[in-house]
Amino acid sequence: MKLLFLVFLICPIVWAIEPISYKDYKVVEFKIETEGQLKAAKNMEMMSGFKYWESPVQTNMKTELIIHPQMFNEFVEIAEEIGIKFKILTEDLGSEFMAERPVRRTKDDSFAFDRYNTYEQILEFMDQIQSEFPENSQIFTIGNTFEGRPIKGIRITKNIQNPAIFIESNIHAREWITSATSVWLIDQFLRSSNETVRSFVDGITWYIIPVLNADGYEYSYNVDRLWRKTRSTLGSILCYGADPNRNFGFNWMNGGASAVPCTDTYGGFSAFSEPETKALIDFYATIYEKVKIFLSFHSATQALLYPWGDLRPKAPNTDDLFAVAEAAINALTARHGTDYVYGNTVDILYVASGTTPDHIYGVFNTTLAYTYEMRHANTGSRFVLPPEQIIPNAEEILESIMGMVAKATELNYF
Ligand SMILES: [Zn+2]
Repeated sequence: MKLLFLVFLICPIVWAIEPISYKDYKVVEFKIETEGQLKAAKNMEMMSGFKYWESPVQTNMKTELIIHPQMFNEFVEIAEEIGIKFKILTEDLGSEFMAERPVRRTKDDSFAFDRYNTYEQILEFMDQIQSEFPENSQIFTIGNTFEGRPIKGIRITKNIQNPAIFIESNIHAREWITSATSVWLIDQFLRSSNETVRSFVDGITWYIIPVLNADGYEYSYNVDRLWRKTRSTLGSILCYGADPNRNFGFNWMNGGASAVPCTDTYGGFSAFSEPETKALIDFYATIYEKVKIFLSFHSATQALLYPWGDLRPKAPNTDDLFAVAEAAINALTARHGTDYVYGNTVDILYVASGTTPDHIYGVFNTTLAYTYEMRHANTGSRFVLPPEQIIPNAEEILESIMGMVAKATELNYF
């Protein structure tokens, strides 16, 4: 057993084979209660054959671990040794990915809202929208990814003097539902005949970046469905990428982020080391004065979160942040009955520093800054949301944002 452990520790073969099928990989759930368990859980993250949905960052945290078939016995031994009780969520993660596969696209397929599209298809969709609605939409490019892909967004406006809402999505590569939702929203904002939606768009300028982490998204799409980070080689030649949602400058590396390049929450070798985060913030600096609400789209814990991600004193307008979140979630749940929780990031999830909303609030003083954690699958596959849920998810998010704006208007933010 010790020899097997050593082989897996020194040979990162498991995550390097392309593409990864995840056949017979189990997913287990357990709670980290003691410092000893936290240390062991972090050690496992460094071993090939173990991968977390969310990295272990603190005690009193529930986590889900994906385990290579040959490492399951090793995991059981470790769990017994440190007193972790676990539950098996999935016996074969690969079979759940296969269920998603028929709707994954090839280059010849056409774009569709109820499917997960490639980055190229999303860009083509945006071009199409701009050519159909040249008066009210404009594509902008904020920069290039590490691998040289253009990072594009779209501005939708009836009057450039209107107050704005900014949406960043798919900063985490594997959270495909976020860009699928963004493209549906773009389409609705320009095509919907619903009076409420139309009036909503008449009064607000929208900035939407459907896929901020385009390199990661493509890698997740074509090679490793579970990829979360960017694809830079700046931090280490052995392990690619940094966690872009731990790479922003405000409060960088102040808890819930890792200094180890091979982990999923690696904060980067410096703040804004990743071209994607730098491009976003440079662009935001040019328009921030108009923006009343900033939204960062993630999945998948069904939560609406607001600053801060660390243990500093509460944000000055916490009462308003809470009231607006409450209205947003009431509107969301009214649509399809989906349960969400809401509150301060630390209280609801865990410590996370260097995130986009904290930076946007802390540096640009956009005081309504939220993270949507969208729907999850009710299985161990977490981020793999069945495509038939794309549109229902998007519909409830639209209702939610409308509820959010109504409350924010009542509180004089608009
Ligand atoms: Zn995320």
